Amino acid sequence: MIAVETFPSIDQASSALTGDAIYLGGGTLVMRALNYGEQNFTRIVRSTDPTLKQIAASGDRITIGAGVTMAEVMASPELSFLAPVARNVGGPAVRNMASVGGNLFAEHPYGDFTVALLALKGSVTLNGGGEQEMESFLSSRSGFTEVVTSVSLVRPSERDFFWKKVSRVKPKGISVMSIAAWLPQSGGRISGARISFGAMGATPLRAKSAEAALEGQGLDQSSVAAACAAVRGDFQPPDDALASGWYRSEVAPVHLRRMLLGEGGR
Ligand SMILES: Cc1cc2nc3c(=O)[nH]c(=O)nc-3n(C[C@H](O)[C@H](O)[C@H](O)COP(=O)(O)OP(=O)(O)OC[C@H]3O[C@@H](n4cnc5c(N)ncnc54)[C@H](O)[C@@H]3O)c2cc1C
Repeated sequence: MIAVETFPSIDQASSALTGDAIYLGGGTLVMRALNYGEQNFTRIVRSTDPTLKQIAASGDRITIGAGVTMAEVMASPELSFLAPVARNVGGPAVRNMASVGGNLFAEHPYGDFTVALLALKGSVTLNGGGEQEMESFLSSRSGFTEVVTSVSLVRPSERDFFWKKVSRVKPKGISVMSIAAWLPQSGGRISGARISFGAMGATPLRAKSAEAALEGQGLDQSSVAAACAAVRGDFQPPDDALASGWYRSEVAPVHLRRMLLGEGGR
C-alpha cells in the first residue's frame, strides 16, 4: 500500500520527507515506477504550495518554481527563449505534467531541460534557502532528500542562446544527445562561453574544451571548427539502446557545428 501525503507548504512536505518517502513533482517518472512495480518507496509526499509555480524575473536573471511544467514554460512570454527546449520534452501529455524540478533528477538519457539550465548558469534553490550552482548540484544529486523549490538562470538575448535536440524519432523521441550553448558577446568576441550536452554522461555535462576554444573569438566558421575539434575530448559517452558511446562521440561535433552555425535551422 502506497500512501500519498499532500501538504499546503513546502516546509511541511520537506519535514515529511523521511524514511522511504519520495517527493512527487509532476509524477511522470515516479508514477511510471509505481505502475511498473519498480518503486522503492511506500510514501509519496507532494506540496500544493503556490510558490512552486512562480516565475519571477529580476535583473538579468529569472527564477522558475520547481513545480512549473514544460507546458507552462511554453506558455510563459518571459520564458519564450526556453519554449523550444520545453517543447522537446516528451509529447503533450508528458509536457502537461513534467516539471522543471523533476527534470533535474531525470536520469540518462532524460534531463533535456536541465541541459539548457546548465548552459544558462543555472542554480538550484533548496527548501530552507540554500542555493547550489547547477554543476555541483548535478554531481551530488543521487540520494538527494531535500525539496528543490526553484531554479534560477540567466535571461539570454535571442542571439546568444542556442539549443538542439538530436533524436531518432521525431517529434518526441528520446535524446541521442541534446546541446545548449550560451555565448554572450562583447565587441564581437565571445566572453563567458558555456556549452552543455545531455545524454553524453550520467548527468548533463559542460563541454569545457569546446567552451575554451570559443572564448575570446568571434562566432565564425574557424572558431566553430576549433570548438568542434575540441569537443571530442570532453566526454566519454555511454552506450545505450539509442546509440553507442562511439556513435555519440562521432556525431557530437557535427551537431555542435550545425547548432552554432544555424545549419538546418536554429
Ligand atoms: C513517455 C515519456 C517521455 C519522456 N520524454 C522526455 C524527454 O524527451 N526529455 C526529458 O528530459 N525527459 C523526458 N521524460 C522524463 C520526465 O518526464 C521529465 O524528465 C520530467 O521533467 C520529470 O519531471 P516530473 O515532475 O514528472 O518528475 P517526477 O516523476 O515527479 O519526479 C522525478 C524525480 O525527481 C524528484 N523530484 C521532482 N520534483 C522535485 C523537487 N521539487 N524537489 C526534489 N525532488 C524532486 C522526485 O522525487 C523523483 O525522484 C519522459 C518521460 C516519459 C514517461
